[in-house]
Amino acid sequence: MVEKMKAAVMYGPNDIRYEDVDRPVCPEGGFVLKVKAVGLCGSDIRNLTTDSKNGNYPYIYGHEVVGEVCEVYPGIDKYKIGQTIYVYPDAHCLKCENCRSGHNEQCTEIERYTDRPGGFAQYIAYTKKRVDRGATYVLPDGVDPILATLAEPMSSTYACVDNINVTLGDTVAIIGAGPIGIFLSILSKMRGAKKVILIDINQSRLDKASEFNVDYIINSSEKDPVKEVLRLTNNIGAHKVISANPSTAAQKQAILMAKKSGIVVFFGGVPKGELTEIDTNIIHYNGLWIYGHYGANSIQVQKAFELAISKDFPAKKIITHVLPLKDINKALELTKTGEALKVALLPNEK
Ligand SMILES: [Zn+2]
Ligand SMILES: [Zn+2]
Repeated sequence: MVEKMKAAVMYGPNDIRYEDVDRPVCPEGGFVLKVKAVGLCGSDIRNLTTDSKNGNYPYIYGHEVVGEVCEVYPGIDKYKIGQTIYVYPDAHCLKCENCRSGHNEQCTEIERYTDRPGGFAQYIAYTKKRVDRGATYVLPDGVDPILATLAEPMSSTYACVDNINVTLGDTVAIIGAGPIGIFLSILSKMRGAKKVILIDINQSRLDKASEFNVDYIINSSEKDPVKEVLRLTNNIGAHKVISANPSTAAQKQAILMAKKSGIVVFFGGVPKGELTEIDTNIIHYNGLWIYGHYGANSIQVQKAFELAISKDFPAKKIITHVLPLKDINKALELTKTGEALKVALLPNEK
């Protein structure tokens, strides 16, 4: 008889049901985790509320997974029963042209987490391919699995500030005060930025963000953020501007608030088909660097994990809510409204 487990199963946009499903069996050469904690990500919210699988339901999402190894295929000695590990959702091949040039995030042979059932469940199985490729990290003793779920959302923000070299004395303007914007703010300050300006249209998100080490917050539904950034920088503009939100209007503003020869990053994707109107003369005459950011390379994934679980990072303050998995719909609501900054779900607790 097939063993059962509880999972949060998506049947369509906004139709998430907590129910019994078959517990995964250990794949040949793979392993199984008992999920200790799984983060709810901005991308999960987008995926769970839209037709993200083009009608191919039911499907289990959840990619910010930390769990305990409970089954290992005979002969595999890389993992030990009882170890708690964080699994980076995508496994890079480390062999293709992009991987070899240091851009694992553009791996052409990537194994994406969406290829297999995810971690909004009591158990999750990983294949031999994952065992071979790694991108799994053992939690040191005493590290809370809930806090370690932040390693994944941290990785792309870590990579971003690393790639654009946020440095001593910089003014960094960040549009979007969700968890990603807050990660970017904290990391910019850690790297020595002098001023961090955080911009959002949602006051409750800004209020949460102001509890972190942010120098200025701007509510862009009340004030023109371009004028405000120029005012705060003596009309110079920000050295680095990061648009971390899905709005084309924000991308347009980002160009206008950058310092001459500054860097503008398009961090967040915008809705498919929407175009941003940009006066390229501003890019040309101001000598701007426009940089699209996506993902993280392998070493950045590892460094982000180390930082997320270190005492230097205010992980406890970022995870504002911890809920049992059965409350996933409540978690979605809390996150959408901005009441929760980041929710961690516990699939094995009632
Ligand atoms: Zn995520
Ligand atoms: Zn590759």
